[in-house]
Amino acid sequence: MAEHYKVRALEVDDTFQMWSPYKMQRVFEFMIRNNMNTLVFHENNIVDKIVWPGFIYGYEKDDLRSYSIYREKLYKEIYYRTPSPYVFIDELMIFRDLMKTILGQAKELGLDIYLQPKEIWFPELLYERQDLMKNGKMCPSEPWWWETFLPKKYEELLQNFPEITGIVTSTGTKESRISLAHQKCQCDKCKAMKMEDWQHKVIMSIYTPLKAHGKKLVIRDFSYYADEQNGIRAGLLNLPDDIIISIKNVPQDYYQTFPHNKLIGHVGKHEQWIEYETMGEYYGWGLAPVSMLNDIQYRMKYCLENGADGISTRIDWEALPNHSTFETPNQLNLYAIAQLGLNVDLPLQDIYCKWLVEDHLLKEGINPNEFKDCLDFVKGIFEKTWPVMSKTPHLLGAVFMNNSKIPVSIDNADFISQEHHGIHKWFPEYKELFNYDDKHAQGMLNEKEEAYREIIELNKQWHSRNPGLKDEVYHTYCGLFDIFELFVKMFRLVGKSYVYIKYLQLHGKNPTLMSREGLIGEIKKLIGEMKTVEQELKDHKAPVQFKYQFLAMMNPERLRVYYEDVEAVLATLI
Ligand SMILES: [Zn+2]
Repeated sequence: MAEHYKVRALEVDDTFQMWSPYKMQRVFEFMIRNNMNTLVFHENNIVDKIVWPGFIYGYEKDDLRSYSIYREKLYKEIYYRTPSPYVFIDELMIFRDLMKTILGQAKELGLDIYLQPKEIWFPELLYERQDLMKNGKMCPSEPWWWETFLPKKYEELLQNFPEITGIVTSTGTKESRISLAHQKCQCDKCKAMKMEDWQHKVIMSIYTPLKAHGKKLVIRDFSYYADEQNGIRAGLLNLPDDIIISIKNVPQDYYQTFPHNKLIGHVGKHEQWIEYETMGEYYGWGLAPVSMLNDIQYRMKYCLENGADGISTRIDWEALPNHSTFETPNQLNLYAIAQLGLNVDLPLQDIYCKWLVEDHLLKEGINPNEFKDCLDFVKGIFEKTWPVMSKTPHLLGAVFMNNSKIPVSIDNADFISQEHHGIHKWFPEYKELFNYDDKHAQGMLNEKEEAYREIIELNKQWHSRNPGLKDEVYHTYCGLFDIFELFVKMFRLVGKSYVYIKYLQLHGKNPTLMSREGLIGEIKKLIGEMKTVEQELKDHKAPVQFKYQFLAMMNPERLRVYYEDVEAVLATLI
């Protein structure tokens, strides 16, 4: 087993962060200080923001520098041909120069730089191409995409951005502009095309120009179903050996209640990177302080033992602008990825130490005894946070949330827990969770009560004294622990009411958990309590820098539409 991860990468997703030279300075500083060596910019259309490509405007020369294309063809063609406000495309070189400035800084610091687009993405102009549009849908199976468009687009990118190390991409996702996975175009070519063949063609059309320029290609697995992953797995093994494979530590998305991703250790001769997530998309966005340190060490050890070469972590989320680990206690989890990447056996206490000291969280002039006391206090509480979170927006490990937000209806809860984020799609042994029989229903109800009891105790401990943090840090964290308690309180009511409704729907004729009247009474009581919490959410004073995120994650209107739906569904059951 290797002693450490060769590639230690940080991934930026938020447009407001990655396109800001000012914000990127603190990211660079963190990376250098923690010996991270690889930076990934993930924006689904990032390549299309900085490359026209010129040939779609009729430019056919070998010199693909943006200013040459602009001079020869673009300034005029765009005026006549672009359907949407042409000025944005006309000024693409400003975006290009902004990105060049940021990448130039990263390069000077010695970082490897990857861009992470989703393919196939393309400019609006191509919607005018009648040979590509079929029955009003853009066809992903026309060979033009991999024979012409993608090789030319990437050639233009590489001539203009020689500083990049390579490209990270995924093709089988629903997040690109077109994909065979969308199944929107139903033409004969699409019907005859196999997913793995389509992916292979797309991947190779990006790989070829990259290889010619001495650049690397990293392919991500992003599949929604186990059978898709099997196809991808077969496809991966047919790719050139120097393509790197990047996979999440669990299947599909960053669900830290899931067992390990079965692809880990099964990627043939390819270099293998592992992706983790530290912004907290599925564990409270950092508004709920959660230490993932035990999980991170457990996962990183497992992956290293199974041949992983790289570890990568996302520090923000494209759907949540102006928010990252840098604003929240999730910075602790970022330190863990960075430090465990260098030494996977590092005692976790050292990570807490590094975070408190290097993020300047401690009060001025703290003496060694006070420091020890502060460390023990913070670590003692933080270590108990994930056990609370794991029982909150989950149902015995199944995902019961929309990215840390409550479901908006019973149907929505069915969809997210069973279809969209369904754990049993990947691990069939979890299927019986969704029978909502006495054993499982009671287990889900119990975990909601346990989580609530535990967070009340943790929050009380946190509020009992400032152990040695700067006053403003301590008070902000008091505010965050208050949010965490309210989060658990809300999910307790939402989760329990959902479980009771499912129980009534499935076992209402012969209930054994409790009487029918008892079940109906419990649901009515929970609806009443949700109305009270709705008011608490409205009145709650979140720390000022987290007001918008608090509203987005715990909007009282969201709770209202949920309990109104519970009332409506209940009415059909009695
Ligand atoms: Zn088609």
